[in-house]
Amino acid sequence: MQKHKLLINGAWVDPSTHAWFESVNPFTAQPWAMVPRAAKEDVDKAVAAAKAAFYSPAWRGMTASARGALLVKFADLVAQEAERLATIESTDNGKLLAEMRGQLNYIPQWFRYYGGLADKIEGRVIPIDKPGVFNFTREEPVGVVAAITPWNSPLMLATWKLAPALAAGCTIVWKPSEYSSVSAFAFGELFEKAGFPPGVVNIITGFGNEVGGPLIDHPDVAKIAFTGGDKTGEHVYQAAARGIKHVTLELGGKSANIVFDDATMDEAVKGVVSGIFAATGQTCIAGSRALIHRPIHDQFVEKLLTLAKTAKMGNPLEAATQVGPVTTRPQYEKVLDYIRIAKDEGAVCRLGGNPATRPECGAGWFVEPTIFTGVNPAMRIANEEVFGPVLSMIPFDDEEDAIRIANDTVFGLAAGVWTQSIRRALTMSERLEAGTVWVNTYRAVSYMSPFGGYKRSGIGRENGAEAIYEYLQTKSVWIDIAGNAPNPFVMR
Ligand code: NAD
Repeated sequence: MQKHKLLINGAWVDPSTHAWFESVNPFTAQPWAMVPRAAKEDVDKAVAAAKAAFYSPAWRGMTASARGALLVKFADLVAQEAERLATIESTDNGKLLAEMRGQLNYIPQWFRYYGGLADKIEGRVIPIDKPGVFNFTREEPVGVVAAITPWNSPLMLATWKLAPALAAGCTIVWKPSEYSSVSAFAFGELFEKAGFPPGVVNIITGFGNEVGGPLIDHPDVAKIAFTGGDKTGEHVYQAAARGIKHVTLELGGKSANIVFDDATMDEAVKGVVSGIFAATGQTCIAGSRALIHRPIHDQFVEKLLTLAKTAKMGNPLEAATQVGPVTTRPQYEKVLDYIRIAKDEGAVCRLGGNPATRPECGAGWFVEPTIFTGVNPAMRIANEEVFGPVLSMIPFDDEEDAIRIANDTVFGLAAGVWTQSIRRALTMSERLEAGTVWVNTYRAVSYMSPFGGYKRSGIGRENGAEAIYEYLQTKSVWIDIAGNAPNPFVMR
């Protein structure tokens, strides 16, 4: 098993603890790599390196165009290594190789997009209302960014932070999830190969309380870019408040996938399946609540069951597999707990509802694709994020009812609407309280389109031109051009 190292100040080093922990392949339930167990001392070194790099001539003195070119070079390296990186991710987090391959082939576009944006960040000349003064603005990088990422799409979610942060001129300390750190080391090697100056990207691995905690509290971290659960997000937000730091939070969801009776039913059935069973439901944008127009509810359920029953489970590295294992043992147990809770609350289990014991699932942490009908919006299963292949089906009467149920959640990450009516599509997309609304499609994301949550699903936006401003701050510069000092005792 490979014993990995931390990337601090351009060097691969052992953790100060001289301790490592196992990263486990969720399909075999066997360890396959050793991940450094960093601690506060390593956090301090990594932040110091990032701070020094931020002020270094090698980085600060680099033109925005040259910085952009470095990002584009990195994009090319990722494109060349996409297959290897995807295989590492699939082995480490159990998501389908087909899904990770798709992500890895797409990730270079983020670095190209933000690489292109790096030298198009302009200030403004303000036609100021005071005579004899010239006023303009500058957009400046905020400083050292702590990027903290979860296990479900490790490199993709890191890219959403690293690409705009580097384009803005920030430096990074990245802490990947303890459950899926291995691909970060491979990414780190490519940052070196691309020629990023030492200390611009640092990678430290370990546990949330041992590494994440000291990182978010470090006084030299200017911005925290976090993706993870809402409870951890709350903690991160408190640390940001204590340190008056910039913060972006991408948190969980309980997204509604809403099907009207005028939808193309077969397309909507596929959309609901892709919303909850793709990625084994381990996606923040999972359409975990299917809201179905009452006149078509029963027919829709039958069609959905027919399609969901055909889902092939098994080895995520095999091309035919459609549903892989749950990534972590605690998450596997959490999903099974929620299934028990739903049954106890009186929801009707129409499919699955158990650990998967099919021979093709081996020793992995598999849960059968699970569908509950008779779900009442007040049940826990309809309100809490399961983060697994568990769908709650809820009937609704009309648009007003659908809006009420869909918005009756503390979350607001995404929503899907299935209808042939343009009026309905526009009305629903306006009234749904979610950062992303898809109409007649689901689970589409792009580097060009802003992504983020309403309510407890988060703060700030990733992707699109908006995201780079999350890593910049505006300075207003005033220059006297009149040469005659006004009355010094009053405000100019
Ligand atoms: P998590 O909150 O448990 O962990 C996320 C990261 O935070 C990990 O790197 C972890 O080590 C770190 N962490 C944990 N405790 C910490 C602490 N006290 N201080 C600092 N860092 C700490 O989340 P997870 O279980 O890895 O991921 C699943 C969650 O992520 C789900 O809720 C999911 O919805 C959410 N998610 C959101 C998005 C989005 O873009 N909105 C995308 C993917 C996943």
